[in-house]
Amino acid sequence: MVKVAVLALQGAFAKHCEAVALCGHTPVVTRSASELARCDALILPGGESTVISKLLVSNGLVEPIRGFIASQAPVFGTCAGMIVLSQPKPLEQGIRFSAIHIEVDRNGYGSQIASFEVPVTVLALGSKPFQSVFIRAPKVTRVGEHVRVLASHDGTPVLCQENNVLTASFHPELTDDIRLHEYFLRQ
Ligand code: GLN
Repeated sequence: MVKVAVLALQGAFAKHCEAVALCGHTPVVTRSASELARCDALILPGGESTVISKLLVSNGLVEPIRGFIASQAPVFGTCAGMIVLSQPKPLEQGIRFSAIHIEVDRNGYGSQIASFEVPVTVLALGSKPFQSVFIRAPKVTRVGEHVRVLASHDGTPVLCQENNVLTASFHPELTDDIRLHEYFLRQ
């Protein structure tokens, strides 16, 4: 059984914990470096990346997470979690771990009222499409050569992986479909 740190500073962490438990693994609600240190994998949930960034600093989690990523442990970022794992961009504030070679536009799909749900084909999950919930989602604008695009929507990558780091523009934890969490935890 894998111990999965679910960053619980702000945002949609409770549903990620449920998905991890449904996969048969142990979610660890994580707000400190010592909780992270007990875990084998990490999920960075959606929420508000500016708020999450400030809380990462005040909770002393920036360097521990940097080290966790560098240790090649599996890390999954969804929505705001994807933003903090991406590359920094000029004039943008907030933590960017540069854990995956992607650049994103925050709120690139529009504001809250432009939220939408769409079935997306993820070949790695089989032929049944994955229902994907986009809420003020980050839009991927650049993808490095070693990044694997596991799914796209309207020609834009929405699920990307590079080595140990997986990122989704959408919220996989908001559906009952746990295939993406299973995929991540198989890594
Ligand atoms: N728009 C948010 C941000 O900039 C992300 C939204 C989400 O995580 N659902 O951080």
